[in-house]
Amino acid sequence: MENRKYDCPKCRDTGFILFDDGTGHSYAQPCKCREIKEAKERLARSGLAKEFKAKTFENYRTGGKPQLEDAKRRIRQYTELFHEIKNNRFNSVILSGQVGAGKTHLGTACSVCLIEKGIPVVYMGYREEITNLKSKIMNEQAYSIAVNRFKNASVLFIDDFLKGRLTESDVNIVYEIVNYRYNNNLPFIISTEKTLGGLIDFDEAIGSRLIELSRGWIIVFKGEELNYRLYGGDK
Ligand SMILES: [Zn+2]
Repeated sequence: MENRKYDCPKCRDTGFILFDDGTGHSYAQPCKCREIKEAKERLARSGLAKEFKAKTFENYRTGGKPQLEDAKRRIRQYTELFHEIKNNRFNSVILSGQVGAGKTHLGTACSVCLIEKGIPVVYMGYREEITNLKSKIMNEQAYSIAVNRFKNASVLFIDDFLKGRLTESDVNIVYEIVNYRYNNNLPFIISTEKTLGGLIDFDEAIGSRLIELSRGWIIVFKGEELNYRLYGGDK
């Protein structure tokens, strides 16, 4: 027997798995680990790898606040049940509410946890990526490559969704991504300072789709006492 340890025992790190087509011929299919590897590399390229390591469930400090304890427990549960719920209609997460409640921290912990389970998650820092997409809008090919990454991601984590001033082209891009994923039942993890009403006010079609997809997994942070940053949470 082979004693060597592979990162991926399924394909023995070749990136391909051979299947028998039933007639004695074999054919190769890309192994899932390729997507995971790409997700990890993207994470590293995004410059967030270090931050991502620091934002785990373990170091999400709740300060004993029931609301934060509950948020952490539910997001953890989402990651544990993900394989069952990913194909359901309600397969997404919204972390909504005030600055400083640790929304980004929980969204990140959730993403890392899913990546570790072998589910590729694409990170989209909202403000930066929208600006980047807008800069490519005149170049159809470059735009479509960039936007497809977010449209087709197995799971898309949009951090600080709708932050900043919104223009009409922002709305169009957001709609393109949300609508495509909605139609293809692809999960989101969303952190946003917008309230649920604020999401609907921004755009009813987009807001209502996201809220529908996240039914059962919407966490709204409310109340001054939740200022997570005050007791040593993330930025
Ligand atoms: Zn593999």
